Amino acid sequence: MYRTHSCGELRIKDLNKEVILSGWVQQSRDLGGMTFIDLRDRYGITQLVFNMDVNSGLCLEARELGREYVVQIKGKVTERSNKNKNIPTGDIEIIVSDLNILNRSDLPPFTIITDTDGGDELRMKYRYLDLRREPLKRNMILRHRMAKETRKYMDSQGFIEIETPFLIKSTPEGARDFIVPSRMSPGEFYALPQSPQTFKQILMVAGYDKYYQIVRCFRDEDLRADRQPEFTQIDCEMSFVTQDEILNTFEGLIKHLFKSVKGIDIHDSFERMSYKDAMDNYGSDKPDLRFGMQIKNLTDLVKGKGFGIFDNAEYTGGICAKGCGDYSRKQLDELTGFVRRPQIGAKGLVYARVLENGTVRSSVDKFYSAQDLGTWSERFNAAKGDLMLILAGERYQTLSALNELRLELGKRLGLRDKNRFIPLWVVDFPLLEWDDETKRYYAMHHPFTSPKPEDMAMLETSPGDVRANAYDLVINGIEIGGGSIRIHNKDLQQKMFKALGFTEKEAQHQFGFLMDAFRYGAPPHGGIAFGFDRLVSLFAGLDSIRDVIAFPKNNVGKDVMIDTPSAISEEQLKELKIQINLQNQKKTRES
Ligand code: ASP
Repeated sequence: MYRTHSCGELRIKDLNKEVILSGWVQQSRDLGGMTFIDLRDRYGITQLVFNMDVNSGLCLEARELGREYVVQIKGKVTERSNKNKNIPTGDIEIIVSDLNILNRSDLPPFTIITDTDGGDELRMKYRYLDLRREPLKRNMILRHRMAKETRKYMDSQGFIEIETPFLIKSTPEGARDFIVPSRMSPGEFYALPQSPQTFKQILMVAGYDKYYQIVRCFRDEDLRADRQPEFTQIDCEMSFVTQDEILNTFEGLIKHLFKSVKGIDIHDSFERMSYKDAMDNYGSDKPDLRFGMQIKNLTDLVKGKGFGIFDNAEYTGGICAKGCGDYSRKQLDELTGFVRRPQIGAKGLVYARVLENGTVRSSVDKFYSAQDLGTWSERFNAAKGDLMLILAGERYQTLSALNELRLELGKRLGLRDKNRFIPLWVVDFPLLEWDDETKRYYAMHHPFTSPKPEDMAMLETSPGDVRANAYDLVINGIEIGGGSIRIHNKDLQQKMFKALGFTEKEAQHQFGFLMDAFRYGAPPHGGIAFGFDRLVSLFAGLDSIRDVIAFPKNNVGKDVMIDTPSAISEEQLKELKIQINLQNQKKTRES
């Protein structure tokens, strides 16, 4: 028997028990005639004691143990004189009578403690060591519990989990596909699914009216903190449902997760906001509602006073930061620097403060009278001591810069508390999005999303104005999920492909199988998918999804632990009938 208990289990009630523990040596300390060792496993840490006076041979052996050695000990549970309130086993220690080294360890490249000294790349390369650390372990357990509670809820609502294939044909989620060559059909390729979208719709045609799956998806796109080339979705689809029924069902899932995993009761229904309102008031389709500071449009107030920048701008708008009227020159310069960053792209920042005597002083006093400035503060509902920050330019770009500025101020003012969660449904997204570069429309969600029936007539006349029955779930400014009511009519689907610039032949080639399925009684249906990694990282209070994934890729899509992507052998290439043509680089593995 390797162990009678785990390293997180023993308490004061176990005093005098003879126990066997197995685990890793986290650290060891020699204090005079005593050696103390922290023994760690998945469940916790237990202190071991070796006494030179009682058993010098054993104590000397213990002093030789290196970090991360795997050992088994036998000993007696005793009360600690120096209790450690920070760990659950902190009241006891084990007086060791037998020590058995199960395996030795090289000196680990970083210390395996909560606040490790290991940099990102090193931790990724030795992920098995990183995963031994408490914060990662906590994330893995959180993830497991959230998956378990998801399954419990979905089952309680009558959903069944059905797996869909990974080797498929391209799915239209807007990213690049990962491609897998076929050995049996040389020159032909599978794509890895960007999502199970078409399969879940086909399952609806097959009559499985409540489907879900916790499933891996693959998208070959540039990576960010909340993006990985492979990630996990809670993917769902339902038949014979309205949009309201879908939102209510999945509001239930999110509430269940908050309650069962974090002990948080959300009684109220989630707020619903149209895409238009989200963009107008927050400059983003995923507003963070933990704080107000709504964007106000000032375009009508600022024109015609001789200030060229505002006069020529398509849009002028701003936000009002409560109590920031005393910002120093340096703080204002910092904010100006912030909005001028290339990724934000504003040219400059105009500010106006409401002074203690109620007058408003601005950086553009030359052009605007006290009365003019009074109309601004009225629009912002600004009070004494407030600071108005104003940007101008092309409408969409200015709104999105204001969104960034709002988030930055929210952060600086401590308004984005990680322990408060404000969920929001954003609804009524536009169906299509115009791309200036390729001069064509793209589906904002995906091509199977249904237009709103009342906007249907505009599909041919002004496609950009058509709204979709599409919705996103946003929590604290993070897009957690999205879905839509689907098109289930073959003719409308064909119209949609046409609006997206597909020829009939192309549509048939790419989605013929779905169109064929729609000929055999497709029920009305709709669904949603949640980014499971994002949901877990939100629950864990993290900014990145990397540490809620056991084996993530780095920011250039590499798994540095297993060293992939990597070249394959000539033999494998030959079998696949593939020739690599990289100029100046020979990229096949030496066999
Ligand atoms: N397949 C969609 C996505 O991955 C979600 C959905 O429409 O259900 O974003």
